[in-house]
Amino acid sequence: MTLESPVHKLPLSAWPTPMEAAARLATHIGLAPDDLWIKRDDLTGLGVGGNKVRKLEWLVADALHNGADTLVTTGGPQSNHARLTAAAAARTGLRVTLVMPAAARPPQPTGNLLLDAALGARIIWADATGPADLTTHAQQVCTELRAQGATPYLVPFGGSNALGARGYHDAGIEILHQQPTIQHVVTALGSGATMAGLVAALGTERVLGIDVGALPDPAAAAATYATELTGNPVTPARLRVRHDQIGAGYGTLHEPVLDAITTVARAEGVILDPVYTGRAAAGLIAAVHDGTIRPGQRTVLLHTGGLPGLFGHSEATHRITHTTAP
Ligand SMILES: *Cc1c(COP(=O)(O)O)cnc(C)c1O
Repeated sequence: MTLESPVHKLPLSAWPTPMEAAARLATHIGLAPDDLWIKRDDLTGLGVGGNKVRKLEWLVADALHNGADTLVTTGGPQSNHARLTAAAAARTGLRVTLVMPAAARPPQPTGNLLLDAALGARIIWADATGPADLTTHAQQVCTELRAQGATPYLVPFGGSNALGARGYHDAGIEILHQQPTIQHVVTALGSGATMAGLVAALGTERVLGIDVGALPDPAAAAATYATELTGNPVTPARLRVRHDQIGAGYGTLHEPVLDAITTVARAEGVILDPVYTGRAAAGLIAAVHDGTIRPGQRTVLLHTGGLPGLFGHSEATHRITHTTAP
């Protein structure tokens, strides 16, 4: 393992997050009552919580180590990562600029965008499509900030690089302490560092990533970060990834996800979001149905947060309010 770092992570939450039994959900989806647990990384204590907090503990530490006074990052209007970067900046007394695609600008700021405003983020609406294009714009913003005498730090898309992935290496160790006999950890796979860090801690066999459609090849991204983090080559082909919950694409409402959200809410009183955690739960349900995950195998569903995204998704709002109670 090449896990030495020039920085110590900056605490942004109380740890560990809870590991909660989900017996009612387990039996509902075809597992034995003791099989299923929900790892509550939605309950991290910063800016409504979520998985980006663990990454930002490393990334913001690096920013401070480099003398930064401004965090710059990218994302869509409902980016949980952008919201939590804004919250981390507020917590550490840094300024924050979020670079978002102008074409996706909503008429009303709801969900994460509302929270970005509350947190005091400066938002730049860029003529950009896709993560790579947005990053190019963010690099230009950094150049402008430097010309004005500021010291910007560019936080990567989704907080994903090998340094951000350390946060999920830490989480993997935490999960092993809470559930030593774990056989499957199911997580949403977006920009890749969450899965990468888990793989670094738990190995490729025990981590199942559910592709949410944020990147064309998220397995390649996760494999790259896992390789950099561990110093051992991890190939994308060795990662366990399901691509069956993308539906019509990132952020669209996929029917099995709607079912997963209401199923988990009604079985456990736990709320998922339509973009990430609802897809993770739908992928878990599909994996039980096709026998990839079998009764008797101890399984953790990683709740990565994302609740504000539910309030920023008008179609999900409409559809959930029109489902009938069982
Ligand atoms: C970003 C995000 C993910 C995906 O994590 P990655 O490390 O980007 O793959 C999952 N769930 C939520 C709620 C997120 O915001």
